[in-house]
Amino acid sequence: MARRAGSISSTVVVKPRALDPAEHSGARNATFRFRRLGDRVILTGELGDWMVVDAGQFEDIVAGRIGPGDALHEEMAGKGFLIEALDVEKAVERYRRRHSFVGRSTYLHIVVVTLRCNEACAYCHASREPMSKKGADMSVATAKRVVDMIFKSPSRQIAIEFQGGEPLANFETLKFIVEYAEELNETERRDLQFFLVTNLSLMDEKKLGFLLDHDVLMCTSLDGPAGLHDAFRKLRGGSAHAEAVGWIQRIGEKYRRKGLDPDLWHVDALLTTTQGHFGHAHEIVDEYVRLGIKTIHIRALNPMGFASKTWKKVGYTAEEFLSFWREALDYIIQLNLDGVEIIERGAALFLARILTDEDHGYVDLRSPCGAGIGQIAYDQDGKIYTCDEGRMVARMGDEIFMVGDVDGSTYPEVIAHECVRAIGISSCLESLPGCRDCAYMPYCGVCPVYNYVSQGDFFGQRPTNERCKMNMFALDHLFDILSKGDENVRRVLERWTIQKPRSKGKEELGR
Ligand code: SF4
Ligand code: SF4
Repeated sequence: MARRAGSISSTVVVKPRALDPAEHSGARNATFRFRRLGDRVILTGELGDWMVVDAGQFEDIVAGRIGPGDALHEEMAGKGFLIEALDVEKAVERYRRRHSFVGRSTYLHIVVVTLRCNEACAYCHASREPMSKKGADMSVATAKRVVDMIFKSPSRQIAIEFQGGEPLANFETLKFIVEYAEELNETERRDLQFFLVTNLSLMDEKKLGFLLDHDVLMCTSLDGPAGLHDAFRKLRGGSAHAEAVGWIQRIGEKYRRKGLDPDLWHVDALLTTTQGHFGHAHEIVDEYVRLGIKTIHIRALNPMGFASKTWKKVGYTAEEFLSFWREALDYIIQLNLDGVEIIERGAALFLARILTDEDHGYVDLRSPCGAGIGQIAYDQDGKIYTCDEGRMVARMGDEIFMVGDVDGSTYPEVIAHECVRAIGISSCLESLPGCRDCAYMPYCGVCPVYNYVSQGDFFGQRPTNERCKMNMFALDHLFDILSKGDENVRRVLERWTIQKPRSKGKEELGR
């Protein structure tokens, strides 16, 4: 194999091969994938183990010239890169652990209680309706059938996530769903959790009291300081930023008064990146730090909903996004080194797969993805979609991701729907051209909805796929950081992968 030091983009699988006994050192390589990053080469194994070597060492490995006594031999043996050192039983156990989500059934149920929203965001993925729109809310009768359907899933864990529109615009239905689900759960005894994705501007003390009493966790959008946030999130007659910030602080104070651990109990926030945010990475992160928010999720735009119409004004290339993300991430890592605890969630999700065998629970970064089998979305009229993004495509006029409705479908019919099966097949990285040979396969995920919207079919084409590029460049940056071997940075990144269940904060209080 020719040495290609300096090449940055090769990603190939190296399989065990018969070696010439004369040159063979005694060690046989297991299958691994590799990717060149400058003059270094990242090797990754099926179980997510990885190591970094230089170009010369790589040539020795591929030629089978590494044997007992060589410095690399022990590292390769420990990471499962040598056949004779492979503990098959342990490997099977780890493989099972890393893919444990495959055996679970649908646990995330996204319920759109209204299509109406009081804010107007230039990048809205949900194609909101104005507040005056009639027939845009989920009725209590439909909500009851939604909850009945949710409890048909055999999953021990059930997470109900309220989305919109702005869910607080139809609080009566939201309240009904929480109370009815809790009532059913008295006999079902599932691990039931509620999440609310809200812009917070329709919050009041009465609603908040209910949400806190029923442990409904809240997540909001925060696009940085007021000028940046309000530029893309318009609230008629007010400031969307002032509303969001005021309630983030109020809710944090309420959690603290209840004695709950602020690391676990706080309003989560995410940044939906537009081209208007470029050049402001530090200011945005500083705003999160100022508000005591422990996690920032720097999310790229999807070409869906209003964002597809305003793409010229808000959109960008994968390279442009990655340059912004890298600047923000490097700054966040430096803040952590200086003692400020804040996590970038996108990086943390990849790191959970790179540094641990645990499932991060994020259905978009796994193989197969979670459409139908990990999550289901229920629109306000009771129609069921593979996932919230599939529902967004329906709002753009294409029902391809609809898999049933709460009036006429059974849970087994939904879960066995041909669209769920097609997405399962088209998101299995192990069989996708490009992905199956990619060094980053153990950490990655593809999105058939994104592929369909951007490239016209569920499978997509990796070489021209912007989402693939974003994942690949993000992983390049993370491996670049990890391969530098700075122990302090490594400790920060390892801390980001620790998953503490929020129930723990309550168990500790004896509740
Ligand atoms: S989608 Fe992920 S696994 Fe597939 S080629 Fe791109 S970076 Fe690699
Ligand atoms: S199709 Fe895309 S959005 Fe839907 S669950 Fe899969 S990865 Fe997520």
